[in-house]
Amino acid sequence: MAGALGLENYVGGRWSRPDSVGELDVPDPSTGRVLARVPRSSAAEVDRAVAAAVAAFPAWRETPVAERARRVLEFRNLLEEHADELIRSVVRENGKTTEEARGSVRRGIEATEFAASAPTTMQGAFLSDVAPGIDTTLLRQPVGVVVGITPFNFPVMIPLWMAPLALVCGNTFLLKPSERVPMSAAILARLIQEAEFPAGTFNLVHGDAGTVDALLQHPRVDAVSFVGSAPTARHVYTTATAAGKRVQALAGAKNFLVVMPDADLDRSVPAILSSAYGQSGERCLAGSVVVAVEPGADRLVAALAERVRSLSVGAADGAGTFVGPVIRPDHRDRILRWIQEGEAAGAVVAARGTLPAAADGYYVAPVLFDRVRPEMSIAQEEIFGPVLSVIRAADLEEALAIANRSRFGNAAAIFTRDGGAARTFAHRIEAGMVGVNVGVPAPAAYFPFAGWKGSFYGDLHATGRDGVDFYTRKKVVTSRWF
Ligand code: NAD
Repeated sequence: MAGALGLENYVGGRWSRPDSVGELDVPDPSTGRVLARVPRSSAAEVDRAVAAAVAAFPAWRETPVAERARRVLEFRNLLEEHADELIRSVVRENGKTTEEARGSVRRGIEATEFAASAPTTMQGAFLSDVAPGIDTTLLRQPVGVVVGITPFNFPVMIPLWMAPLALVCGNTFLLKPSERVPMSAAILARLIQEAEFPAGTFNLVHGDAGTVDALLQHPRVDAVSFVGSAPTARHVYTTATAAGKRVQALAGAKNFLVVMPDADLDRSVPAILSSAYGQSGERCLAGSVVVAVEPGADRLVAALAERVRSLSVGAADGAGTFVGPVIRPDHRDRILRWIQEGEAAGAVVAARGTLPAAADGYYVAPVLFDRVRPEMSIAQEEIFGPVLSVIRAADLEEALAIANRSRFGNAAAIFTRDGGAARTFAHRIEAGMVGVNVGVPAPAAYFPFAGWKGSFYGDLHATGRDGVDFYTRKKVVTSRWF
């Protein structure tokens, strides 16, 4: 699959070193050691891969959906069989702890299981006698060549939101994984090959922004599923829709956790810590701002601060690690600049964790800010690191106003024992995914996954029935028999 450290593309059922405009190092974030080199596939290589997907489409779309679902089930079984290998790969190249990596791989398997229900979910509709002797049939048909462009933070799960569902709906698929975590995607491609998907139905093309741009402008690409940061999502959405493609682009986040004075702190504090500092804060569902409703903020900040000081920061595979490394040194430096900016703006550092001794990896000591004001940039911008800001609010009304002024709207949560407060929050918060006493409200794969406002560009969310709608086109047949 790869010579020395160089990774290969999987195109038209074959592995090969691509035509590329250079390579990038893939370091292990826990140690800085180079694990692989990823090619930046050229426009000519993109053209070759799209041609393979175009060539495979006619036969694949004619393959009965039950047979396509059987391939997906075979793939699902291989994912299960190779789960440990996938988990190790996510730990190594992304820096998640083993537990976090296991959870993300399980979520990916769940999405694959949902895809296998396509013989039911792809069903259309029929109505007889819409006029005398005239019947109407609604069919769902595949869209064509679908491209998936994925971020670094879930190397297995997010490609699995896309590829199995797009394929089972009869599309052919091309994955452009994050150049920062390309190795897990290579394992997925190998398992797709083992599951005997026909050549060209699934293609893996490594690369970075240049490769993405060649895909977005390629005339034979029909649809694009994107997950990543807000500026890239906007670029992908505007470029690909202007080129006439169907696009869903899941973007960045700034998630607010509202804590009411009646919250059960013994259970809420661990959930908040896990949301904010788990996966080093590199989660699109990470809680980034706690809105502490008075009276109760002092008690909450004291409880959080005590725990933050003792969070264990270290190598992803280290025993007891809670906060692993962040993905790259430049990302670490950006997080450190946000922390400085918060201090300069007058936020109070209520607690700071400690860095591991003599580590070569990319670590950030977790920070808890108190007395943050809503207009501060640390309360508005996505930091994507182990930093949590506390804003104090007088009541639920003010807390909702603070959260709803965010330009993002991916996820939000409330911690309370009051059903009325929870209902009001769920009803009025402007976010696509909402938790009630749940810090990471990730919908299961049979529900749609995406945010609102600046966290999402498009109409149909990822996964669930929205996913089936995105990967199919509706056709309505009106018939009369003489
Ligand atoms: P990113 O935008 O840097 O990269 C995502 C993908 O886009 C990669 O495959 C990359 O190669 C490509 N890309 C990067 N810059 C590009 C450019 N200028 N032109 C074209 N393509 C480009 O995102 P990331 O840092 O890998 O991922 C983290 C971000 O993703 C965070 O903002 C996080 O909130 C977001 N995210 C959102 C969700 C969600 O469901 N909304 C889920 C996971 C991650």
